[in-house]
Amino acid sequence: MAKTIQIKDKKFSLSIPEHEIQKAVNQVAHQITVDYTGKTPLFIVVLNGAFMFAADLMKAINFPCEISFVKFSSYRGTTSSGMLNETAGLNESVEGRDVIIVEDIVDTGITIEGVINSLKAQGTKSIAVAAFLQKPEALQREVTVDYVALKIPNNFIVGYGLDYDGYGRNLKDIYTVVNE
Ligand code: 5GP
Ligand code: MG
Repeated sequence: MAKTIQIKDKKFSLSIPEHEIQKAVNQVAHQITVDYTGKTPLFIVVLNGAFMFAADLMKAINFPCEISFVKFSSYRGTTSSGMLNETAGLNESVEGRDVIIVEDIVDTGITIEGVINSLKAQGTKSIAVAAFLQKPEALQREVTVDYVALKIPNNFIVGYGLDYDGYGRNLKDIYTVVNE
């Protein structure tokens, strides 16, 4: 039986062990290396959820690049513009840069669409998205997710940077909520 944990009021069971995560992240790093060697991209990590994915991804990338971090607060559900409010970020200009957005998970696609629009408006040369996870069944926006480590079913997960009500980000495996 899969290992089960409790976070606050919910039970979660182990669904993606660390070794599978590491293998998938290394594959993404390899693909990015094939596509970007010779360019000097700027990786923009979307906090908080992507911090662990970004750390492992960047350790597996061995060509010259820059890394920066942004934090957005979304107005999800209250606006149809897809624009997000950048609450912390970017000291450097993205104008003319090949940008790779590093995101934890693409669910409906609303968040990543907003991040893409916000960066495009600042004059990027190119934008690619590298997501640790994607829930393809939940997608509601026409966004291209260029690199995906793992595709998962439409269930709530925690671990490897992703939280449930603030907890669980430190787990090195992915756990899926158990519906009781
Ligand atoms: P979207 O805007 O694509 O619907 O959602 C993206 C954001 O929702 C992610 O960056 C993440 O913060 C959150 N999210 C979506 N699905 C999950 C999930 O299964 N678990 C957790 N912890 N967060 C999720
Ligand atoms: Mg996120």
